[in-house]
Amino acid sequence: MSSSITYRLEQKRTLVTELPGPKSVELTARRRAAVAAGVGSSVPVYAADADGGVIVDVDGNSLIDLGSGIAVTGVGASDPRVAAAVAGQAAHFTHTCFMVTPYEGYIAVAEKLADLTPGDHEKRSVLFNSGAEAVENAVKVARLATGRNAVVAFDHAYHGRTNLTMALTAKNMPYKAHFGPFAPEVYRMPMSYPYRDEPGLTGEQAAQRTITAIEKQIGADQLAAIIIEPIQGEGGFIVPAPGFLPTLVEWAAKNGVVFIADEVQTGFARTGSWFACDDEGVVPDIITMAKGIAGGLPLSAITGRAELLDRVHPGGLGGTYGGNPIACAGALAAIESMVEFDLPARARAIGDRALTRLRELAADVDVIGDIRGRGAMIAIEIVQPGTDTPDPELTKAVAAQALDQGVVVLTCGTYGNVIRLLPPLVIDDDLFDDGLTVLEDAIRTAH
Ligand SMILES: *Cc1c(COP(=O)(O)O)cnc(C)c1O
Repeated sequence: MSSSITYRLEQKRTLVTELPGPKSVELTARRRAAVAAGVGSSVPVYAADADGGVIVDVDGNSLIDLGSGIAVTGVGASDPRVAAAVAGQAAHFTHTCFMVTPYEGYIAVAEKLADLTPGDHEKRSVLFNSGAEAVENAVKVARLATGRNAVVAFDHAYHGRTNLTMALTAKNMPYKAHFGPFAPEVYRMPMSYPYRDEPGLTGEQAAQRTITAIEKQIGADQLAAIIIEPIQGEGGFIVPAPGFLPTLVEWAAKNGVVFIADEVQTGFARTGSWFACDDEGVVPDIITMAKGIAGGLPLSAITGRAELLDRVHPGGLGGTYGGNPIACAGALAAIESMVEFDLPARARAIGDRALTRLRELAADVDVIGDIRGRGAMIAIEIVQPGTDTPDPELTKAVAAQALDQGVVVLTCGTYGNVIRLLPPLVIDDDLFDDGLTVLEDAIRTAH
């Protein structure tokens, strides 16, 4: 499996300058004069090339990528099959607009999504450009199909940066502050967060807590949809207790509420299954997808029950670029690579490798509150020694120190105290081990 993955760039961490190097520093100066300050970057290092598990910067440093551009490049950032498919499509037509002169690629992607997504019911799909756009459209469909307005989202949720998806997102800074007013009829409910819930609270009990709040505060007959990330992403890689999702799904079905799984971050082999819902046998009514879908090309999708999606009047869903032919070609190629290299199995192997080592580390240092995750979606929750008090400063320091040594790691979490690992699923074992060693050293030293 991984042995049959071939690489164009040497899969090795190599530093030839301090980070950031002089060319990156120069680009930062140009950027300040031209790019709005509101756009942030996790690292001040500029990419020139990327392949497998490495990003080569403009100064010639070879960094280990433990972020995949936020869970996007599962198949790597220059998968040869994706590159060829994209070039091939671009040589023929870059765009006609599916709403004007449709093309086969869009249909082929929709067929694939019907195959891969949970459940064997009749399905329909619509393609868009970004995760936020997929979420917006899932809610549009749910409202039209139910004739109801209210939407439930959860504590720690992240669903995007457009107006409706800001409303659905939980965290104030940096996503929402001063950007209101927000879309109405969004209600926030308690999540299952085993590390921070009362000890012993089961998934079923946590779901019942949420259901009671919905019934008292909204009323089931007012509720169009529940939207939830089966494992929360930006909110801190929070894995709900077993039973939480199935209990919610069962209640939603009984009450005519559309259950939307936002799998924008968890989808496409990341958690060791094609979708995180698969792990608990959960079948959502609508699933939203983006990030990992197309090897880095901008594409997103909703797939859902035919009887919901087909309720929408012709022309009610779409967009100029949605399902762009180049992005569709990228998706079809990326999915082929996921199958060929059995990336769900690779994700599980990456998870086993990381969790074993990180649990040993956690037994050794007193600043790790929790190690959690599934497949290649792994989190380290950093706390003040011997407490469960979040330590966002230490978290930042660890990420900065890892970068100094040539390893790109991302942070997340409502409290900013979670280090998250999202390596490309095609990363080579030795390279991943080297990345983990650097990260472990950073945690030991910082602490
Ligand atoms: C990233 C993300 C989004 C938003 O996707 P964009 O492509 O950035 O609009 C929505 N939901 C989840 C779960 C995400 O992780």
